[in-house]
Amino acid sequence: MSGRHVAVVGAGYAGIAAAVGLVRGGAAVTLFDANRTAGGRARRIEYRGSTLDNGQHILLGAYHHTLALMRSVGVPENAVRREPLAIRYPGELELAAPRLPAPLHLAAALALARGLAFGERRAAVAFAFAIRRAEAAAREGETVAGLLDRLGQPQRLRRLLWEPLCVAALNTPAGRADARVFARVLRDALMRERGDSDLVLPAFDLSSLLPDPAIAWLGERGAQIVLGGRVLGLSRGASQWRLATAEGARDFDAVVCATAPYEAATLLGTVPALAPLAARISAIAHEPITTVYLQYDARVRLPFAMTGVDGGHAQWVFDRDALGGTRGLVAAVISSSHAQAALDHDVLATAVHREIERLGATLDPPRWTKVISEKRATFACVPGAFRPPAATGAPGLALAGDYTEGPYPATLEAAVVSGARAARTILDWTQTP
Ligand SMILES: Cc1cc2nc3c(=O)[nH]c(=O)nc-3n(C[C@H](O)[C@H](O)[C@H](O)COP(=O)(O)OP(=O)(O)OC[C@H]3O[C@@H](n4cnc5c(N)ncnc54)[C@H](O)[C@@H]3O)c2cc1C
Repeated sequence: MSGRHVAVVGAGYAGIAAAVGLVRGGAAVTLFDANRTAGGRARRIEYRGSTLDNGQHILLGAYHHTLALMRSVGVPENAVRREPLAIRYPGELELAAPRLPAPLHLAAALALARGLAFGERRAAVAFAFAIRRAEAAAREGETVAGLLDRLGQPQRLRRLLWEPLCVAALNTPAGRADARVFARVLRDALMRERGDSDLVLPAFDLSSLLPDPAIAWLGERGAQIVLGGRVLGLSRGASQWRLATAEGARDFDAVVCATAPYEAATLLGTVPALAPLAARISAIAHEPITTVYLQYDARVRLPFAMTGVDGGHAQWVFDRDALGGTRGLVAAVISSSHAQAALDHDVLATAVHREIERLGATLDPPRWTKVISEKRATFACVPGAFRPPAATGAPGLALAGDYTEGPYPATLEAAVVSGARAARTILDWTQTP
């Protein structure tokens, strides 16, 4: 591989993983990102002297590839706060996994949950054990709502447990979400190792969590990093790829396109042979996520680092102080936020403030609020969603990104796995005679 020069377009979690994999494989790498801050959809944002994220994220213990990549580029252990699985809706439901081997920890969490009637506990345990064989339990083409109907899940259990977990994990409501993907996520997070179900909460901002230290690691190994450098187009020469940038054209032996799908469609669309692939990627449907930040007085603390909210706009609220961030700062997350993305920001923030008060605190109004709506936060994880493989069919051009082929929904882990796979695809291609 020595001497081969590979361009990675996109310094989100997928592009970062691809660049690290390529450097480890002996390639010379240039990493481009249109943005000046690395991290893509999971990046730091500065606002009024506070460090926010483009959206509040959580990771799971099951994110083995992401956590291993973080360790391997020198991210310190205290970058995340790890807690055993706990789901809390104050006054409604409290469920916490004890330190028992999987899946006993889950069975015990459901059996001992506060706020569930006996029939609901029994139905929940039956459901959890049915999806141990995810592919058999969930039928091809079935939605999560269809699966919950078929497996006789009571309404209250659906509302407080399965439906919030579905929209949090797949960013797609149960009525449209792919039951097989949901069953796989639950199986792999809950049924394998106890630690897989741990909630892994970022204590650093999302650019510092992986992209920034990985970029330092890449720089020390000779990679060139071009932040604020949008790639405008791709074309194939006799044996190389030509990338058009505002600074002029640059040639590379191979390219990993690690952008979000809509941007990949634009770039691939500039290569005539890839027009059909670009058209399919461009047709991928998306789901929004809205994060509402509320800056309260520095003394304000929520009862838990993460709390569920039922029956309002917010689905989960996070105490950023408890996570190592700004004191008094609360982040409220709304997945699949079609209705909320259309609301006036002040109206939405005021409504979320009232929902936080309903959790049990009387609060002065926040000093400031900031609403960030990502209209295309993730692909819609519906049955039959198109997910392209890493290999594009064009020599030396691979795709990476959370939307590419894989068993899981769009997550940081899916992005990291896709990046490593794209790097292997390019390394294998360069070794093919
Ligand atoms: C609000 C929100 C909340 C989320 N919550 C969670 C969560 O709790 N847990 C979880 O696991 N996942 C969560 N996700 C999903 C997660 O953020 C994504 O799956 C992941 O960040 C996708 O990474 P990626 O590298 O595939 O793409 P991206 O992050 O989109 O990275 C693509 C990069 O390519 C760059 N780029 C695009 N076009 C060009 C070009 N022409 N030239 C150069 N650069 C270009 C972009 O600037 C960007 O940096 C959330 C997403 C959002 C938006």
